[in-house]
Amino acid sequence: VFLLDCGTMTIDRSQVLWNVDCGVRLRFPIYSVLVDHADGLFLFDTGHDLEHVARTFPWEQAGREPGQGVVEQLRACGYEPGDVRYLVNSHLHFDHVGGNRFFPGATTVVSRAELRQAKVPESFERLAYSDQSFDHEDVRYELLEDDTELAPGLRLFETPGHSAGHYSLVVEPGGGQRAMLFTFDAAYTDENIEREIVSGFHLDPVAGTRSLRRIRKLARDHDADVFVAHDAAAFARYRRAPQSYGDGSIG
Ligand SMILES: [Zn+2]
Repeated sequence: VFLLDCGTMTIDRSQVLWNVDCGVRLRFPIYSVLVDHADGLFLFDTGHDLEHVARTFPWEQAGREPGQGVVEQLRACGYEPGDVRYLVNSHLHFDHVGGNRFFPGATTVVSRAELRQAKVPESFERLAYSDQSFDHEDVRYELLEDDTELAPGLRLFETPGHSAGHYSLVVEPGGGQRAMLFTFDAAYTDENIEREIVSGFHLDPVAGTRSLRRIRKLARDHDADVFVAHDAAAFARYRRAPQSYGDGSIG
């Protein structure tokens, strides 16, 4: 299991924790998750497209250091884009789909409800879904409903609220390794979970709050380490590619 550093972006802290510390800017990390599995290579999310962000949200000051970015990081781990068999999107916001188009040979796995919402968003969601490059001409979708086992040791759990069809991921590597729970945007930071406060951007804050509780329960039930999406302090503690969690493939 590899965490691929895709760069950073700045936002207001009240977007991280709804209505907390308005006017405080912070820079947060954006990353993808790569899982080498016996059933094939699984990639979860693809970061942001720098040019798209510069054009559409110049105030978010997207950043990327040399070597960052989903393709660069994948290569640093010894893989090529063509090796990815399944591209799974936790949801379809721009900072999670920006590199999808680099994987035309992969099957794109996403929630059916999420794809529908991305195509016909609420007015306030339009910017979040402004990067539609995931819907390229070679795309092949596998659309999901409900909780889903993708492959042995890889399970998606519905955690809606931040967006219509949002999924979080539990990886159970086996071999005595601890389970890993990737919340994706159901929790930007550890503080969202601890204080049970949803992020400032959301479709349904009530559903999002239920999802935060579900994350806590999933972590307990699976005795999993929790990996949040956009927490600079937490990300600095995580093992980042080309280092990995465990060696060899899962399943
Ligand atoms: Zn999001």
